[in-house]
Amino acid sequence: MNKITLPLLATLGVLAVAGASAYRINGQTAQAKTAQTNFQTAPELVGKQWLNTPNGKPVTLASRRGKVTVVEFYAATCSNCRANQAAYNKWAQNFKGKGVEVIGVHTPELAYERDPKNVAAEAKKAGISYPILLDGQGQNWDNYRQQYWPTIYVIDKAGKVRAKWEGELEAGGRKGTAKLTSLIQTLLAENSPTSTQTNMKTQDKDKTQFPLTKTDAEWRAELTPQQYNVLRQAGTEAPYTGALLKNHETGVYECAACQQPLFNSDTKFDSGTGWPSFYQAIPGSIKEITDTAYGMKRTETVCSRCGGHLGHVFDDGPKPTGLRYCMNSAALEFEKK
Ligand SMILES: [Zn+2]
Repeated sequence: MNKITLPLLATLGVLAVAGASAYRINGQTAQAKTAQTNFQTAPELVGKQWLNTPNGKPVTLASRRGKVTVVEFYAATCSNCRANQAAYNKWAQNFKGKGVEVIGVHTPELAYERDPKNVAAEAKKAGISYPILLDGQGQNWDNYRQQYWPTIYVIDKAGKVRAKWEGELEAGGRKGTAKLTSLIQTLLAENSPTSTQTNMKTQDKDKTQFPLTKTDAEWRAELTPQQYNVLRQAGTEAPYTGALLKNHETGVYECAACQQPLFNSDTKFDSGTGWPSFYQAIPGSIKEITDTAYGMKRTETVCSRCGGHLGHVFDDGPKPTGLRYCMNSAALEFEKK
């Protein structure tokens, strides 16, 4: 084990998302693969010593499929870890009962931190009420090929690591709390493998409301596999992978299934989420479907002409609308003007 605490981590760059950005695992910076299916599955948590769970019962990532999990590696007296504590507590509190759990993995560095009693006392002092796995032998540290305290892994409903964040969330203007909070909300809005079927049924029921209808076989034949997954199965592409994410040309964004104009390029903005974002849709082009699954109100957006799934709309966007249409690039086509 080679462990070091880092003061600022400015040299490590910002959010290491398992998409197209640098993804540090195996101790090296590698360009992560871009396909949605290529996110790395988070190693299962191992160890029987737990704090803050009923009767010290272990929590497994396997049992959390269909939910979002934040795993944070820390050490009880590491000051950089403490700097992040307020954000962890807030996530644990604000998303409580909404399908999100924060799990602390305590890998000790100092002799003092090797005594579970000290870890428990420090946790209490820090206001931690979420589960903590005591990683005394550093087995989880090794399994995750960990290098630094603190490190945060945001794990999606399928058990894949969708973001890895090393160091302090707010050091050097990194805005990590906002970025990861936004990612957690996005992951909550994604369909889990278990809920896809229900959603497809809902869409089938709604199909008659859309002017343009085609059979499933027709859509399959017309769309690429990725377009079909997003538009017809409400899938989500990997962040930072969309072809139109960084498109700044003047023109119109259309539905990739039926070419209905959806957004003008002057309403596009950089939301920092890794998905093309707009603050305003072309009037009448988008139908909103409110979904309250996982105890969170989120709004799915579909093309009003063909019913194709586009993404979601959130109310944390910029002026003048305050809306953030978080779109899948795969659901869009760009028509240059
Ligand atoms: Zn359409």
